[in-house]
Amino acid sequence: MIGFIGLGIMGSRMAENLLSKGFDLVVHNRTKEKAQSLLDKGAQWADSPAEVARKADVVFTMLANPSIVEKIVFDKDGLFNGFSEGKLWVDCSTVDPAFSRKMAQEANSRGIRFLDAPVTGSKIPAEKAELVFLVGGKEEDMNEVRDMMNAMGKDISFQGENGMGASMKLVINLMLGQAMAVFSEAVALGEGMGLDREKVINTLLAGPTAAPALKGKKDKILQDEFSPEFPLVHLQKDLYLATKAGFENGVPMPIANVTKEIYALAKQSGLSEQDFSAISRFLSSKSAK
Ligand code: NAP
Repeated sequence: MIGFIGLGIMGSRMAENLLSKGFDLVVHNRTKEKAQSLLDKGAQWADSPAEVARKADVVFTMLANPSIVEKIVFDKDGLFNGFSEGKLWVDCSTVDPAFSRKMAQEANSRGIRFLDAPVTGSKIPAEKAELVFLVGGKEEDMNEVRDMMNAMGKDISFQGENGMGASMKLVINLMLGQAMAVFSEAVALGEGMGLDREKVINTLLAGPTAAPALKGKKDKILQDEFSPEFPLVHLQKDLYLATKAGFENGVPMPIANVTKEIYALAKQSGLSEQDFSAISRFLSSKSAK
């Protein structure tokens, strides 16, 4: 039996893929309604993370941020109160490496095995089982859940000891967040100088200077439609975690620190739950006027 906790944009789709590929699933989510379609298709409901841990041999978590992971794990009804020795916890949430290493220590001290296994790919890749898992921990533990990861993704990339999966994920999202902000500022400049906005966007995306990942956001930006695939609040969290990791490892991060505050201002302006590509609206020279 596999456990899955955290049925948001990503987790709900990942769990659905496990279920559709024949794995037995027990699920829990703060908001139970989000589990309904999985329950209709045969997943079991657990009233608490502890109950998931009691029923499952392997538990995947896909939660908003480190403090929510901590709550789900350490609460009275948390994972650690249900796990017995030898079970495996796979945390797919995007967190920082120091946090993943702390979770590994806490788990190991209770006889529980732990993998940090954040993913690249957003809502649509999660739906199509095209995620890439970036894994930190013991290779033999990863091999034990290979079939499950293959049910949810297209690749599994082993990064090294615990914390290294989280490290690689932050490196990638650092690039993503900055690329979107830089792109948005360039479009704003084009607009401000009187160029046609659509032409600027198409020209940038057709050329070599725009990051390939931005192409997938073209329609959202052109249509000014930012229903969330990757909520801005989570990308701001990732930039914060990247700068925290920079501080902890003695790496100056001047550009990331500025970018993270741009996202913080966008969040404060009400764009928190919108897709992170809404940073283009925030930085648009039109909305600035
Ligand atoms: P989401 O839709 O906001 O889901 C967040 C999950 O955390 C939900 O299950 C939510 O429960 C739970 N949660 C939030 N606050 C909670 C609380 N106080 N107590 C208990 N549970 C709580 O986010 P998502 O997009 O699926 O992202 C999940 C993780 O994956 C994040 O770490 C994100 O950075 C990462 N990620 C996201 C993407 C993406 O493109 N979306 C891609 C790769 C990685 P409720 O349903 O009750 O709110």
